[in-house]
Amino acid sequence: MPRDTQTLSVVLPVHDEAEGVVHVLETIVAAVRHVPEARWELVVVDDGSSDATVERVGAMEPDGYALRLVVLTRNFGKEAAILAGLEHARGDAVVVMDADLQHPPELIPRMVELWRAGAQVVEAVKENRGREGAVSGLGARVFYALFSWLSGLEVANASDFKLLDREVVEHYCRLPERNRFFRGLIPWMGFTTARIPFSVPPRAHGRSSWGRWRLLRLAVSALTAFSSAPLHLVTALGVFVFLISAVFGSIALYQKFTGVAVSGFTTVILLQLLIGSVLMVSLGIIGSYLARVFEETKGRPPFILDRRRSRL
Ligand code: UDP
Ligand code: MG
Repeated sequence: MPRDTQTLSVVLPVHDEAEGVVHVLETIVAAVRHVPEARWELVVVDDGSSDATVERVGAMEPDGYALRLVVLTRNFGKEAAILAGLEHARGDAVVVMDADLQHPPELIPRMVELWRAGAQVVEAVKENRGREGAVSGLGARVFYALFSWLSGLEVANASDFKLLDREVVEHYCRLPERNRFFRGLIPWMGFTTARIPFSVPPRAHGRSSWGRWRLLRLAVSALTAFSSAPLHLVTALGVFVFLISAVFGSIALYQKFTGVAVSGFTTVILLQLLIGSVLMVSLGIIGSYLARVFEETKGRPPFILDRRRSRL
């Protein structure tokens, strides 16, 4: 039975990619051109670039595919850009990928095949992590171990390079949370998933927009979004410290009544320090969750469109 032509979208969040964006878009189009029974649209989301990204994309003359340019008024972050792209994509399936060729476009035809064979989500899984410093590599490993352990979701080596069925996109756009972690939410939704491995090539142009500090903030926000276990840890710590103090308290009382008190200055100092730091850490953990609640209750939209510069 011949299949009707399907519309397929590629969503690309871009931030300061003027140098390479045109080449990247052309490479993607060349890679997907021969997928049978497909009509393609590229949805480029400019996440507040301060260079000529918007102009470069706007000047392109798409040939045989549709090009949609979604411009955000400022830098809202990659998660917000992905959401903006998904909201504007019209495809029966939507591929989300980075605009620096670190997500090889040659994989897309295979992803489409797997989707047509029934998978609702096709994830490209990192086989190696590309060139990465020792600190970021270790940091990523610690984060993924913690995240998988706390959230019960398998996200190690996951990437934002995914193909989503229309149904998945609809669900994703309807989720009420503002602060999102795409890599965690997609597995959380639980649709049938196929995986294909890929190795991360070095960036084609320009440089990564992520500093260490920004990555750390992202990690904390992802962990607090997917697990309340750290809050329970605070309770557990409290109980633990209480048990210790019960033991030391009994000893102190015993010494008082038997008349051998006074010494034990070191113990007092150590206990002060221990309890003080446990309290601080606990307050910090509670604070991180409070911050999330605060962010969510403000109810601000995750991004704002610059309609005058967009081409929807
Ligand atoms: N990006 C974005 N907004 C940001 C930072 C990055 O839309 O605030 C885009 C960027 O243009 C690229 C993708 O997200 O298409 C991945 O970013 P990058 O290559 O800097 O991250 P890395 O590959 O180092 O994780
Ligand atoms: Mg990159």
